[in-house]
Amino acid sequence: MRTPRVRARLDVCASCGSAVIVALDSAVAGIPVRADPLTLDEPSELRARVEGRMTYNLVGHPVSGRALVERIPELVVHRRHPVVAAHRCPGPVPATAIPQPMDIPSAGGDSSSGDDIPPF
Ligand SMILES: [Zn+2]
Repeated sequence: MRTPRVRARLDVCASCGSAVIVALDSAVAGIPVRADPLTLDEPSELRARVEGRMTYNLVGHPVSGRALVERIPELVVHRRHPVVAAHRCPGPVPATAIPQPMDIPSAGGDSSSGDDIPPF
């Protein structure tokens, strides 16, 4: 498992081998969060809450970066972003579901520029 940062990324749970989203829940004094990469509907979120699992909004854009923001109880009725729950072993998504970065073809052929902007 890699060191969590504010920007969410996929990783593998060291305990059960499931895919997890790893991020800090805040840019200042953030707490490391591991969440299941499975979007929850309202009944599933309620079930997760009853089980004692925190839920998070997955905000941002896949290209520019995403972050996990805790869903506080006062705002839990609003669903403007995908909602995910804190990971509990065993997770619902196997690590083999994570696409490997090497599978993505290079658009420009020059990987030394460090340019992360997609060509479209
Ligand atoms: Zn696990």
